[in-house]
Amino acid sequence: MTQRTVGIPKGLLYHYYHTLWTTFFLELGFDIKVSPDTNKKIMQMGITSAVDEACLPVKVFYGHVLELADQVDYLFLPRMVSVARKEYMCPKLLGLPDMLRAYCVNPPPFIDVTVNLRNKDGHIDQVIKDICTIIQVPVPQGKRAWEKAEAAQKRYEEYLHAGHLPSGFCCLVGGYPIAVLGHGYNVYDSYINLGLIQKLRDLGADVHTKEMVAPEIVDRFAQKLPKKMFWTFGKQLVGSGLYYLSAPEIKGIIFLASFGCGPDSMVGELLERWATRAKKKPFMFLTIDEHSGEAGMVTRLEAFMDMIKRRVS
Ligand code: SF4
Repeated sequence: MTQRTVGIPKGLLYHYYHTLWTTFFLELGFDIKVSPDTNKKIMQMGITSAVDEACLPVKVFYGHVLELADQVDYLFLPRMVSVARKEYMCPKLLGLPDMLRAYCVNPPPFIDVTVNLRNKDGHIDQVIKDICTIIQVPVPQGKRAWEKAEAAQKRYEEYLHAGHLPSGFCCLVGGYPIAVLGHGYNVYDSYINLGLIQKLRDLGADVHTKEMVAPEIVDRFAQKLPKKMFWTFGKQLVGSGLYYLSAPEIKGIIFLASFGCGPDSMVGELLERWATRAKKKPFMFLTIDEHSGEAGMVTRLEAFMDMIKRRVS
């Protein structure tokens, strides 16, 4: 039997869980095909296919799916409802498999299992069973592969908490330490964010991100909110943002938001208010969409870094 290929779109939650997902399917003996880094063609395909109201990373995700659709035996498109107890993912992620199924012509089978860990500790066993049913693999084999994949994901997250950025971005490089807060799929996709991290480094910044803050610190700082934030990524942004606001070594904060993202507008606004009240460090709100221009962004980044350099010297 020829080896079957699972396609994994390099967008949205890939930027968080690629180690888990790829290790799992590789352990099961599948070939993996990951779509290329976001490029002009992928972005254009996404923009013309997704609904206008979608945020940029969702549009780009459509492009990644279309890029892979006719090259693979399965498309891995889990329906991510919740990845932590009493928390939820963004509603725009929940309907993605349905919207893509409705849009794609003759797509390969979707591995569109529902991941909902909000209430049930044992639910991940059901997720593994559901995947095994779709790809026709014995469940015990799936469980063994999952254990290895979880261990690899844990090691990867520890590597990030130790101060590294995901591969392709190198680690901390020295310079003026600033925090760039935003969703991994915006911060680590250089095409979506117009090369933000490299531009900041060229201006003398050392970029820290929310993935470098350990979960227990995120949780501790997120508890400063009067009410629990039930969006997982919103909680991570608030917790890491409040931590960076209080960390003396961090000289400024950039909040990177997607145009049309409800959670980003709310969380960014909250952090901006805390930063203004604390009067301790510069805070810049940067919104990106498919019309964002490089020249305008560079001007704002230069002004931001000039301000930081003046304050530090
Ligand atoms: S959280 Fe915001 S950026 Fe992310 S998928 Fe939802 S709407 Fe889009």
